Amino acid sequence: MILEKGIGNTIHELILFGREELRQAGIEEAQQECDRILMKFLGCSRTEIYLKKHKLMKTEVKENFLTVLEKRKRRIPLGYLLQEADFWKETLYVNENCLIPRPETEILVENVLQVIRGSKKERFSFLDLGAGSGAIAVAIMNAFEAVYGTLSDISEEALKVATKNLKKYSLTSRAKVVQGDLFEPFSNDEKWDLIVSNPPYLTSWDMKKLQPELTFEPKEALDGGIDGLDFYQKIVSEAKGHLVPGGTVAVEVGQGQADIVSKWFRESGYDNIQLFKDYLQVQRVIMAQRNS
Ligand code: GLN
Repeated sequence: MILEKGIGNTIHELILFGREELRQAGIEEAQQECDRILMKFLGCSRTEIYLKKHKLMKTEVKENFLTVLEKRKRRIPLGYLLQEADFWKETLYVNENCLIPRPETEILVENVLQVIRGSKKERFSFLDLGAGSGAIAVAIMNAFEAVYGTLSDISEEALKVATKNLKKYSLTSRAKVVQGDLFEPFSNDEKWDLIVSNPPYLTSWDMKKLQPELTFEPKEALDGGIDGLDFYQKIVSEAKGHLVPGGTVAVEVGQGQADIVSKWFRESGYDNIQLFKDYLQVQRVIMAQRNS
């Protein structure tokens, strides 16, 4: 199908056109992505789109839709184009300065929420190390009232995104945002009930054959060094000193990294080491406790 410039088309025509264009560009979820673009520009739900699919789309909205479609065909991630990403129960603001939150990170959230639920504390504190968009921290703080978060990241720009998300969900009064490399900005006596992190974990090999979308994401949020494990070494050795007795550290790991990272936790004297799988049966999350 060829669309004419400056001429209104029905929503239905644009749906068919958009899907086909995305499919031809090799985008797997063409239908779903096309719907999401339309939902954004028409400001309505998926059902509403289909209910009014025989209506004409304003030429201005059509042009915006086509512009995003062109960019998406160049494999720029949809999250950056729409400046939003769904994660857990939230819709977060994202831009190219932060990693777009992934569904597998929800496994991390699910399990840390259990930890917080099980704690008898009146006031619970956590550190999100390498917070990026703030997805994990926002999910945690939205789930509980008396939970206080520190969000750190080496990237000043990523922290601006996190701050925007904290504001969006009115969480700033319970949050502290700190720029710095891992534990470097914190003094020895700063301790939390929980430390959570989704650090960069791709290997140098992964970094060389990134799927097109990932080349648009910040390298510093993906690159975990030669074997992808650089950050875990530091987290395992330093988290203990920043956890209260009995406190928990929870990390997301890449495929095939769970055995070695959990072994490091064990060898460093952490207790109660637990592994959790993601939807694809990949060992994705490790939790460990500082002995009390
Ligand atoms: N989950 C991302 C990916 O494999 C990587 C995120 C990370 O390095 N923490 O696409």
